[in-house]
Amino acid sequence: MSIIKGAGASPGVAIGPAFVVYEAEVEVPIFDDPVGAFSESAAAVAEGLRASSKIASEAGRKEAENILNAQAMMAEDTMLSEAVTAHLESGARLGEAVNKAGKEVADMLAGLDDPYLAARSADVGEIAERIRRQLAGASQVRIANTVPSIIVANMITAADTAVMNPDSILGLLTETGGPTGHVAVIARSLGIPAVVGAVEATSAARLAKTVALDGTTGEVAFDPGEAEHDDFVMRRVAHREMMKAASAFRGKHVEVDGHRVRVAANVGTPDDLTAAIEARSDGIGLFRTEFLYLGRSKPPTQEEQFELYKKAAKAFDDPVVIRTFDIGGDKPATYIGVPDEENPFLGTRGVRLYEQERDIFKDQAKAIARAAVAGDIWMMIPMIATVDDFLGVRALVDEATRELDDSGLAWSEFKVGVMIEVPSAALVAARLAEHVDFFSIGTNDLTQYTMAADRTAGSLAEYADPLHPGVLQLCNLTAKAARDADISVAVCGEAASDLAAATLFMDMGIDKLSVSSPRVDVVKAHVVGLKTDDRRLADALAAASPADAREIAARR
Ligand code: PEP
Ligand code: MG
Repeated sequence: MSIIKGAGASPGVAIGPAFVVYEAEVEVPIFDDPVGAFSESAAAVAEGLRASSKIASEAGRKEAENILNAQAMMAEDTMLSEAVTAHLESGARLGEAVNKAGKEVADMLAGLDDPYLAARSADVGEIAERIRRQLAGASQVRIANTVPSIIVANMITAADTAVMNPDSILGLLTETGGPTGHVAVIARSLGIPAVVGAVEATSAARLAKTVALDGTTGEVAFDPGEAEHDDFVMRRVAHREMMKAASAFRGKHVEVDGHRVRVAANVGTPDDLTAAIEARSDGIGLFRTEFLYLGRSKPPTQEEQFELYKKAAKAFDDPVVIRTFDIGGDKPATYIGVPDEENPFLGTRGVRLYEQERDIFKDQAKAIARAAVAGDIWMMIPMIATVDDFLGVRALVDEATRELDDSGLAWSEFKVGVMIEVPSAALVAARLAEHVDFFSIGTNDLTQYTMAADRTAGSLAEYADPLHPGVLQLCNLTAKAARDADISVAVCGEAASDLAAATLFMDMGIDKLSVSSPRVDVVKAHVVGLKTDDRRLADALAAASPADAREIAARR
């Protein structure tokens, strides 16, 4: 037996056979007509990608649908075929020619000023690999388990998750990725236990008959001995019992120290919206709208957005918090000119793009204002670092509503608040509170920026702990500023569903936690049994490490 530790990314315990995603080099045979073989394979790959896109579309996974469609177009693009032909003409074998051409096109795109095309360079590598697999007669389906299994991979792409069947997946285990990366977010929304950033997981899993993983602690055992196996089984039973007990809280209001605490849902796709409605969450605490903007050549129309936001508003009595687009960082869109930057996470991201993209922003603001007629909609601005950031965007929002008045379209008043996810915003929270209607703490970015640790890097998982007392102090400052100004303060980063963190957030007087839908009842069941404790909070804030803070949070 061997045990490794990654980062817990989606709670739950999985025990079962491993399905290791095959990532080894394939051998491309020699063809009589290599040019013809290439174009046939590229066409077959494009067709396969379009079929996967259709599956993603039927499953309501819009973002994956768009990515796969764009990849299908790229497989048939002449840029790649011309580069392959050039290498064949200079004497390369087909496999080598595809490799070199893929790399050349990818490098060329990566060096362009257009950030959208630069971001497509990784897709070209993926497509060239698919074409090589096609030429070698190897399977294109990376996740092809025939029995329910734990999927083990170096990394799982958005395209993989789009076509996988969640019913046949016991757990996910990846070598890369952090606890707040996209695998984690998707796994949590599907309720699949997951561990990420587990270095060397694939080589260990290849030799193992059984894998056991704990998506809370990040522990993974390969071929566990009898005692370890029993331990994982007990954890699984305990987790299921907790989930069952939590289901008693479905749709219930909960209070802590006599004050209502809302447990809302995070939504990032139309599927998530359906899940939130089924979870009967206390509204939506974070509606990530990027999926409407990514993987397409034009921004979404105001009407398209209006219909979606209206649907969300009508589905809940509690507030629906719509976050305006957080493009940039690792999420570029073709029609938005994000500059080519060395450090995109520290670059032109979120609110920093709105002045430059006034029309796109105002269209979203108008859709939100119009949807506010149908329910309690709040608008939330991402990546605020300064008071001026907010004043600038507030002026744009007012301009948008004036234009609605001019065009005679109905709209209603709505709250406008900010995400606190940049340390400077937490430090000036008292000043920001003079202008905004609410705060919501984005612990994913707040942790990444406070700890100077890229949230997507699995190897930095030990730094990416929101229970680091430095991060907790910023959360506490934010909560205090909100209480003093009598405005609402929520947490909508992944830490909201970490029960130890949730305890401390209650101690801080935070009034809303927004979590993935499968965690709503669990978090309600947890907070309802709490009594806030100033001493516990003070000790956690003064702790030396996340581990100490976690231990203190467990005190009752
Ligand atoms: C956050 O940063 O905590 C957050 C909720 O936003 P996102 O994860 O979308 O960056
Ligand atoms: Mg964020």
